[in-house]
Amino acid sequence: MTFAFDNTYARLPARFFASVSPTRVRAPRVVKVNRVLAGELGLDPDQLASPEGAQVLAGNALPAGAEPIALAYAGHQFGFFVPQLGDGRAILLGEVVAGDGRRVDVQLKGSGRTPFSRQGDGRAALGPVLREYIVSEAMAAMGVPTTRALAAVLTGEPVVREEIVPGAVLTRVAASHIRVGTFEFFAARADREALTALASYALRRHYPDAAGAGNDALALLDRVVQAQANLVARWLGVGFVHGVMNTDNTAIAGETIDYGPCAFLDEYDPDKKFSSIDHGGRYAFANQPRIAQWNLARFGETLLPLLADDEDEAVRLATERLRGFPALFAAAHARVLRAKLGLVREEEDDPALAADLLARMAHSGVDYTIFFRRLCAAARDPSEDAHIASLFAEPGLFHDWSRAWRRRVAREELAPDSRAAAMRLANPVFVPRNHRVAQAIEAAVRRDDFEPFDTLVRVLGRPYDDQPELAHLADPPRPEERVLQTFCGT
Ligand code: AMP
Ligand code: MG
Repeated sequence: MTFAFDNTYARLPARFFASVSPTRVRAPRVVKVNRVLAGELGLDPDQLASPEGAQVLAGNALPAGAEPIALAYAGHQFGFFVPQLGDGRAILLGEVVAGDGRRVDVQLKGSGRTPFSRQGDGRAALGPVLREYIVSEAMAAMGVPTTRALAAVLTGEPVVREEIVPGAVLTRVAASHIRVGTFEFFAARADREALTALASYALRRHYPDAAGAGNDALALLDRVVQAQANLVARWLGVGFVHGVMNTDNTAIAGETIDYGPCAFLDEYDPDKKFSSIDHGGRYAFANQPRIAQWNLARFGETLLPLLADDEDEAVRLATERLRGFPALFAAAHARVLRAKLGLVREEEDDPALAADLLARMAHSGVDYTIFFRRLCAAARDPSEDAHIASLFAEPGLFHDWSRAWRRRVAREELAPDSRAAAMRLANPVFVPRNHRVAQAIEAAVRRDDFEPFDTLVRVLGRPYDDQPELAHLADPPRPEERVLQTFCGT
């Protein structure tokens, strides 16, 4: 089993991580290998799927060149600072440079205890592993920045949660696992040397074109603010609720990370939250931009000693960047919504047009994904309008808006067919609907039946293609199928 490892994080100072090997498990069995991703990483998918591959993916055998480490980090969880978290159930095997030159972390999640495990068992249950596999790969297929899933394996050992369930390991691939919480870990210890090394490393790894221009810490803050603005705008575009936007789950590379209690909107509701522990709705759908900005403020604070020698000047620089977030987010969100509405040029009133639509959808509880996909058809053929209007409490709620939309569209010279085709690439047919994810997990965990999981992963790999034979996977839940609450993936 050859991984072309080229490990750089393990070269950082020893206090950045703990060297720790995965814990052996009894009977590894491959559930799924992401063959396309494996190919991109120069790995042989057949080998990964073999019994020998299962040993590696379960942590029983270390591939040559792996330097297993658990990363140190801290984090604000639901607003409260925890000075030490760290990889409690994940072990970084090393970094691989993909065919296109991208450097990625290859991490085993659920591979046993580490010095950061606290009371935890270091293990992952099959359900959360499948959930992360399904949702992260769906996000990737929709073009939303995200960590990836390279493989899922069963360990052959039970884990104890609310009940006894099968244990599993996810192989996660990420641009890196550096989080806002990684910076907070060193800031809390007033470890300026570590912060300097980390900022320099993160900037050179993720935003190399911005490095060396004078103020690296400021350049990093700039880029991370922009990346988070873009990311959360993309989430809103697909109806994604992350559910646990703690600073330890905020990746410096701007990828979606940690698919715990995440969920997708069925009907549009800006206040929607699913997580069982998010009592106040801190991480509700439309609150996500505000929380991203809050997390970025925590990031900015960690960089203060590096931004300028003069403290007031450092605060001024950080504040200026953070105050820029709402405008950056608004611009990114407007771009996302324009694409969904089939608008090519930018006009000043576009955000108001979109906001008016969303308010009408919220009022009628219109299905987010279905609405926008039908709107693609209406862009080509206005007789589709009736079909869309039926989604609203009263047809007039749609028709009033659609008149304004058609006037706006008419100001652009674009053939209706071309507009509809472009819109179909901004409006997926298939998102990982919560009830389908739950059903796929249920079949696997209760009946060792992975067919629903495999089918869901396959369909979600082509989210913008109508796949008529599997159209039922695009349907909203029946009342009895609705998922009302999601739980943390521990
Ligand atoms: P998460 O909720 O996945 O973002 O995890 C928050 C923190 O709890 C991280 O430091 C994890 O490593 C740790 N953690 C979560 N589950 C476990 C577990 N089963 N064993 C050890 N540590 C865990
Ligand atoms: Mg986490």
